[in-house]
Amino acid sequence: MQIKSKTLIAGAIFTLIALTTMQGYLIFNTYDLRKNSFAVESRMTIGSIVQNPYVDSISWAYRTEFVDKIPEYRKGQINKEALIQTLKNAANESNKGFLDYFKEGAEHFGLHENVLFKRSASLILFTYENGEKETILAENEDPDLFLLGTDFPVDEGYLINAWNWSFDKGFTNASGNLETVVITYRASLYMKIIDWDSIMLKKLLLLLFVAFLLFVFIITLVSYSIRNLLKIKRISEIKTDFINNITHELKTPLATLSIATKTLTNKYAKDDKTISDEAIATINRQNKRLQNLIDQVVDNSLGYNHINLHLEPVLLSEFIDEVCDDFSLTLPQRIQLLRVIEPSDTPILIDKFFISTAIINVLNNAVKFEGTVLKVELKTIKAYSVITISDNGIGISKKNKKLIFDKFYRLSEKNKHDYKGLGLGLYYCSQIIKAHHGIIDVESKEKQGSTFFLKIPTNHGKENLTG
Ligand code: ADP
Repeated sequence: MQIKSKTLIAGAIFTLIALTTMQGYLIFNTYDLRKNSFAVESRMTIGSIVQNPYVDSISWAYRTEFVDKIPEYRKGQINKEALIQTLKNAANESNKGFLDYFKEGAEHFGLHENVLFKRSASLILFTYENGEKETILAENEDPDLFLLGTDFPVDEGYLINAWNWSFDKGFTNASGNLETVVITYRASLYMKIIDWDSIMLKKLLLLLFVAFLLFVFIITLVSYSIRNLLKIKRISEIKTDFINNITHELKTPLATLSIATKTLTNKYAKDDKTISDEAIATINRQNKRLQNLIDQVVDNSLGYNHINLHLEPVLLSEFIDEVCDDFSLTLPQRIQLLRVIEPSDTPILIDKFFISTAIINVLNNAVKFEGTVLKVELKTIKAYSVITISDNGIGISKKNKKLIFDKFYRLSEKNKHDYKGLGLGLYYCSQIIKAHHGIIDVESKEKQGSTFFLKIPTNHGKENLTG
């Protein structure tokens, strides 16, 4: 059972991890796919906006202005920077109109507001008649030349499209000869998506929410199943323990009974009255012991709502003194019982029989678990009369502290056989105190001792007392 449940728990945890990893992987894949499809959609939408005669005419206009300046450049009237500036200025002038047009187009085609677009020139090359080439704008070396849209660094965006233009410009040069320049011009379209992650998160919000709910659901299910499994395992262990204990407890009286009956049936014993009297006395004692054992199981298993209290007004200090007096009589000399009892001024309603049973159970445990100095205290703390019973015995580990009031719970496996018991004593005490609307609690340190607190409300049954 132990290996089996451990394997089951490990299997469940492994499956949970595997499922979570798979779910994470699927979400990540979906995120990636959505991101790509968003990029493709945006790219197509931009295409629909800018592939249009109006935009072509704008580009044509600034390119023409630039080309018309080439003769001045060739004649040395302007330098390269001024030539490039012409293109920049011309494009810049058209850009305002373009931006308005783009905005309208974006609204019309439903382009996301976080998508930016720009058109730029990345290469301008002149080829002269003699085959000589002059680079005006070097691709990948010079920064690209922004023309239309919203400017952003190229490496932050995506290239949508790029194409080369090639056209001739003929003019009369400084020497009065006709000269032709071939212009190679490369234009590129880029887009940039601002805050891509938050757009994607918004789009995937429902999916993430459902995934999160499923995750919480699975975690709850698995932890609930594991808890149940452990509970069942513990109950089964407790049952086996109880059966072992009770069998162990029954063996001795039964063996003694069998010897005593054998003695009685023996011929010599029949003739000897002392022997037969002794055997009968033994049978009676063992019979009583068996009866006690059965009573203990039946009575101590009662839940608090099955305990019938016969309440009577009691001055707790006097009552506890009496219980301690009686208990002291049963104690061997090596065990000390100390008392610090605060005198009670008002009686409270308790069932004397049950409360004394609870106190004696705790005191018996103190002796059983190797206490040599026991202390009983009575104090009124806030609304409770607190009976504190402490010992300097073996103590209780932190882990076990939570379990000792459970039905059939006994101390850990290794020293189970050193201390006899059925694991019902503290359960019964807790039920008795609960029936009095009180609280039972324990503080303990291993190898140092334990302190039990039986707290009974001072107003318990007060309405009955005055009424
Ligand atoms: P039992 O004494 O028959 O085992 P109880 O219900 O009285 O059953 O106690 C349950 C467990 O609580 C014990 O098995 C023991 O581990 C622990 N326990 C109870 N009282 C003490 C004590 N005074 N010192 C140490 N351990 C204790």
